[in-house]
Amino acid sequence: MGEPQPSEAPQRGAVPPTTRAGRDAAQPSDASRRAAPRGISRRGLLAGAAGAALLLGLGGVARATAGDTVPLRPPGGQGEQRFIAACIHCDRCRGVCPRGVIGTCGIEDGIVNMRTPTLDFHVATAKAYRRGAAHADQEAVLAKPYEALLDAGGSGFCDFCMLCAKNCPTGALAAFDPDRHWIGEARIVPRSCIAFDKLGGCRKCVDYCPFGAISLDEGKRPVVQPEKCNGCGVCENICPSSTYRTFRSGLQRGIEVVVNEQGRPL
Ligand code: SF4
Ligand code: SF4
Ligand code: SF4
Repeated sequence: MGEPQPSEAPQRGAVPPTTRAGRDAAQPSDASRRAAPRGISRRGLLAGAAGAALLLGLGGVARATAGDTVPLRPPGGQGEQRFIAACIHCDRCRGVCPRGVIGTCGIEDGIVNMRTPTLDFHVATAKAYRRGAAHADQEAVLAKPYEALLDAGGSGFCDFCMLCAKNCPTGALAAFDPDRHWIGEARIVPRSCIAFDKLGGCRKCVDYCPFGAISLDEGKRPVVQPEKCNGCGVCENICPSSTYRTFRSGLQRGIEVVVNEQGRPL
């Protein structure tokens, strides 16, 4: 496996807002405004308007270029600057992924990210698996839930087969060790998680996490241990909260994998 490289902070293009004091200081005083010839004043006004429009335009371009969030990349694609420089949008990783978890960024993710690969843990076959599991041999499923999910051809999570990296022609997806590196980090969303309801009772993410990264606290609510989590997405994929609670949370599930911006392991 490759040695970890220095971490990179996500780059976000943003035009810093000007302060009220700064704007006030830039205004001419009443006296100088009265003393200025009319022609100069009009030109100044037009120049100011043009400058403001340019700044607004640049701000918009910067936002559109960078996007508001850093996408979750397939394993080995962490380190955003390196990844963006190397990925040629060939789509091979998406084509070979046996779990169908690789999607494609759109314009809403920013121009730089458009058509680059990103992970989607909401693939619909998880629901089909849950329905199937309800009728399957319950003892076998409960004894080894993750293995049963693999055997059933479950999709929408990463099993670290690394076919994507092996087929990447540019090395944008580097070597990755799921015990040392991470795609992202799972976080509980209390307003969506069923276990936070009064009746509670759900522990699906605890049972299905293949890395033992989730436990229950004394109130029987899930807690993620970040040092064990590598962002595989099984928990987000299998979480049933959006099925039972669409009235409250929409598509958001009770647990979701987010980019860990504090440290990037590759
Ligand atoms: S490691 Fe395998 S399962 Fe994970 S994203 Fe790559 S191809 Fe898909
Ligand atoms: S295979 Fe590599 S270069 Fe091609 S889209 Fe995927 S990450 Fe980018
Ligand atoms: S993403 Fe979820 S299932 Fe995967 S290791 Fe982290 S907590 Fe476990």
